[in-house]
Amino acid sequence: MPRANPNIVITGTPGVGKTTHAEQLARNLGFVHLSINQLVKDHGLHEGRDEEMGSWVVDEDKLLDHLETLPIHTTGGYILDWHACDLFPERWIDLVVVLRCETTALYDRLTARGYKGRKLEENVDSEIMQVLLEEARASYSEEVVVELRSNEVEDVEGNVGRVEEWVKAWRRDHGGDGDVGGGGGEE
Ligand code: ADP
Repeated sequence: MPRANPNIVITGTPGVGKTTHAEQLARNLGFVHLSINQLVKDHGLHEGRDEEMGSWVVDEDKLLDHLETLPIHTTGGYILDWHACDLFPERWIDLVVVLRCETTALYDRLTARGYKGRKLEENVDSEIMQVLLEEARASYSEEVVVELRSNEVEDVEGNVGRVEEWVKAWRRDHGGDGDVGGGGGEE
């Protein structure tokens, strides 16, 4: 059975605005916002904590097994929000949005979040080196990956609008009526 709705990955360096975008998109589209960080925490899909980096060490096999139990690949309508994207099977994913942010803005956002030392440096460097964009391009075909700027508050509205238009077009192309809202699976 073909999926009624597309699945979208929102990725990028921590602090670029993934949660902000994913929440708005999920609300407007009636999709499920799946924060992978939250899922990992809630379901213990990790191998413990990296105290130096202050984050969970994700058990990718457990995470993938858990994702397989959700109707992502059957109903679609999921927004997967994570700072990595190469784990999700290509056949599940219809669009990969890589959010990008200028260094100074990202530095300020991460500092406000309490990041410092190596954790702050590594994340800012990762954005400068466009690590997530390269990962997305290496993992998905070219036409699936879109890079969007998230420097200012006004960017969010524009980006969300663009993705909504894309979802309408996807639905029309896949036999739906293109109406946005009311779709989506269940978490
Ligand atoms: P992520 O999920 O990628 O870590 P968040 O969505 O949590 O990022 O955003 C980090 C911080 O930056 C939040 O305080 C959020 O309000 C702010 N923010 C996100 N996107 C933008 C933007 N485009 N312009 C200004 N501030 C933003």
